[in-house]
Amino acid sequence: MIDTAQDLKEYKKRLKNALHNDFLRQTLKNFYEAYPAGRARALEGLDVQGLRAQIAACKDQALPRIEELFETFKTHAEAAGVKVHLARTALDANEIIATIAKDNGVKKIVKSKSMTAEETFLNHHLEQEGLEVVETDLGEWIIQLRHEGPSHMVMPAIHLSRQEVADLFTKVTEEPQEPDIEKLVKVARREMRKHFLSADMGISGANFAIAPTGTLGIISNEGNARLTTTLPRVHVALVGLDKLVPDLHTALQILKVLPPSATGQVITSYVTWITGATECTTAPGGKKEMHVVFLDNGRLALARDPVFSQALRCVRCGACANVCPIYSLVGGHNYGHVYIGAIGLILTYFYHGRKNAQAIVQNCLSCQACKSVCPAGIDLPHLIKETYGEVLRQGYPKPFKNKLLARVLKDRRLFHFLLRRAYLAQKPLARPKGGLIRHLPFFFGKEHDFRSLPAIAKTPFRDMWSRLYEKVENPRYRVALFGGCLVDFVYPEQGHALIKLLKGRGVQLEYPLGQTCCGLPAQALGEKDVAREVALQNLKAIDPSDYDYIVTLCASCASHLKEAYPRLLEDEPGLAVKVKQLTDKLIDFSSFMTTVLKVSPKEFQGSRKKVAYHSPCHLCRGLGVTQEPRDLLAAAGLDYRTARREDVCCGMAGSYSFEFPELSAELLRQKLDAVEETGAELLVTDCPGCVLQLRGGMDKRGAKIKVKHIAEAVAEEKKG
Ligand code: SF4
Ligand code: SF4
Repeated sequence: MIDTAQDLKEYKKRLKNALHNDFLRQTLKNFYEAYPAGRARALEGLDVQGLRAQIAACKDQALPRIEELFETFKTHAEAAGVKVHLARTALDANEIIATIAKDNGVKKIVKSKSMTAEETFLNHHLEQEGLEVVETDLGEWIIQLRHEGPSHMVMPAIHLSRQEVADLFTKVTEEPQEPDIEKLVKVARREMRKHFLSADMGISGANFAIAPTGTLGIISNEGNARLTTTLPRVHVALVGLDKLVPDLHTALQILKVLPPSATGQVITSYVTWITGATECTTAPGGKKEMHVVFLDNGRLALARDPVFSQALRCVRCGACANVCPIYSLVGGHNYGHVYIGAIGLILTYFYHGRKNAQAIVQNCLSCQACKSVCPAGIDLPHLIKETYGEVLRQGYPKPFKNKLLARVLKDRRLFHFLLRRAYLAQKPLARPKGGLIRHLPFFFGKEHDFRSLPAIAKTPFRDMWSRLYEKVENPRYRVALFGGCLVDFVYPEQGHALIKLLKGRGVQLEYPLGQTCCGLPAQALGEKDVAREVALQNLKAIDPSDYDYIVTLCASCASHLKEAYPRLLEDEPGLAVKVKQLTDKLIDFSSFMTTVLKVSPKEFQGSRKKVAYHSPCHLCRGLGVTQEPRDLLAAAGLDYRTARREDVCCGMAGSYSFEFPELSAELLRQKLDAVEETGAELLVTDCPGCVLQLRGGMDKRGAKIKVKHIAEAVAEEKKG
C-alpha cells in the first residue's frame, strides 16, 4: 500500500530526501531534458491545438452522458458474450473481481498495467483473498516485487537504476544477474512466460471503452497486455467510467496524441481492440469467460461538478509529470498518490481523500507547463488551486499566512500602511546600497538563505506619482499602468523606466491610485473570496473604458488579471462588459513596446551589451507572449544570448519559494547556471517577482551578472 505524507512537515522531510537522491535526480533530469524534443518530433505535422480542442469537446460532451454510454456499452458487450458490472466504490470493484475469480476456480492471475487497479489497490485485495497476482508489465513487475507504487503513470519504475533492478532480479531468480538492460529484459521475459502459461485469469485495464460497439481499446509497448487478455481462460477488464467514449473516432483522435505525449512515440507497439468474449482453447467449451468492471469511485459526481469535471478528460498520458519542474526534482512518489504529476494532485483528493491530498496539493509553482502540454486541454494549475481551496474548506487547518492575507489584502489602506512600516522595520537590516537586505530577519530558517532579499523602497511609486505625472496634449493613447505590489513598493525604478521610454511618444500615462494587489497571492493560497474582493477593488479603481490600454510590468499580475478575473467575477451582476474590456485592453510591457508603439533600433544606442533572458511562466505560457521580449531586446541593440531552460520556472512562484525553499533554491541554481554559461553580463526578465528571485540568487553566489527588468535595460539604451 502507498504511504503518502499527510502533513507538510513530514512531506518536506521526504522532499529533502528526494533532493539528496543523486540517482533519482539525474534520471529525472535526463528524461526532463530529452522529453520535449521527443514529444515535438512525434507530434510533427499534427494540428495539436485542433486535436486538443476536439478531445476536450468530445470528452466534455460525453461526461453528462456517462450513464447512458455505460448502458449502451453494456447492451453491446453483453450481446457479444461479455458480463458487464458497475462498481460504485473501489472496494466494490475489488470484491466483484475476487468473486469472479472464486466462481471460476482461479488460483493464479496475470495482470497487465492498469492505473485503475492501482487506484483500487486491487492486488492487495486479491492477495488477501489468497490469490496469486503477477504484474506482467516490466516496470509494474519491478515495483510489485519491491512492494512500491508507481512513480510515473507510464513509466512506473523510472526511479530505479539498472543495478537496483539487477539486485532485485538476483533475489527473485536466485541466480546472479548483471546490470545490463537487455539481459534483464530477457530474465523478465523468461520468468513471465511461466506465469502467462500457468495463469487462470488475466486482468487488464483499458484506454477506451467504445460504447456503440462494446469494444475495449488497450495500448501497450510490451505485448504483455495481449498475452494477459488472450491466454488465460478468464479475462477481467477494470475500467474507469471516464474511459467510455461515444465512438471509435474519438478513440482514434486520442490515440494520435496519447503516445507522443506519454513517451514521445508516434504510436505504441501494440494497439489491441477487443469486442466480445473470444475463443480460448483452455476455457471450458472453448470460449473465454470475459467480464468488464466499470469503476465509479466518485467519477459520476465529478462529472457533474462545474469546476472539476474537466479532470475526467484525462487520458493518463503522464505528460503533466514529464514537463513539471517539481516532478523533475523529486519524482512521483513525492508528487502524487497513485496518480502522479499535476493530475495526481487533483485526483488524489477525489479518489483517495483529503488526508492524502492535503500536503502534496500545496507543492505547485503554477508555472503552467503541465497545462501547455496536456492533450486533453485540462487547466491543471487552476484545478490544483481549486483543490487546495476544497482541502481548506474540508477542514485542513488554515495556515496563519492565509488568515493574515485575508485580513490584510482586502484592506488596501492597511496593506499599504504595513508595507510602509516594513520599510522602517527593515532599516537595520538593509544594505546601504543595492536595495538588498544584509541578512535575513530571524524568523527565516537557514534554508531560506539561498538568495538575498530586496529591501522595501523608501518611497513607493504611488507616493511619487503626483511628481512624475506629465500631462500629454492630444495623446495617441491613454494608458493606465497596473503596477502590482513589487513595482509599487519594492522596485519603483521599473515604473520610472517605463515613464522614460514613453516620453515623447504621445502616451498619456495614468497611475490610478485606488489599485491594489492583483490578488494572485490570495488565489494561490486557495483564498478565492479574498481574490474576488481584491479583483472588485481593482476594477473599481481602473475603469477600462477610460483607457486604450492597461499596461503592466508584471507578467504574473497580467496573467492573473487576464485569466482569473473573468472566472472570479463571472457572477458579479453588471460587470461582464467591464471585465471583458479589462482583459481585452490588458497588455504586457514588451508587447506594448513592440506591437503598439513599434519601437525601432534608431531610438537606441546599440551598445550590443550581452544579455540573457528569463521567460516568466506567466508571460510565455500564461499570456502566450514569447517573441515580443526578444524582439524588443533586438530593437534596443542588445546582444541577446539564448540560455538553456529559458522558459523553465525560476522557482519564485510567489509564496512558493518561502514554503518550499529547498526546491525553489534548486530551480534557481539550475537557472543561474544556465545563464552563466551564456557569457551574458546582464540578465533581464519581464516580471518583478522573477527579478527578486534571480537578482537575489546572483547576489548570493557573488556573480557579476546584473539582473534587471527588461524595461530598465531597454530604458538605459534609449538615446537622449
Ligand atoms: S492531465 Fe493531461 S497531461 Fe496529465 S496525464 Fe491527464 S491527459 Fe495527460
Ligand atoms: S503548474 Fe507547474 S509546478 Fe504545478 S503541477 Fe503544473 S507543471 Fe508542475
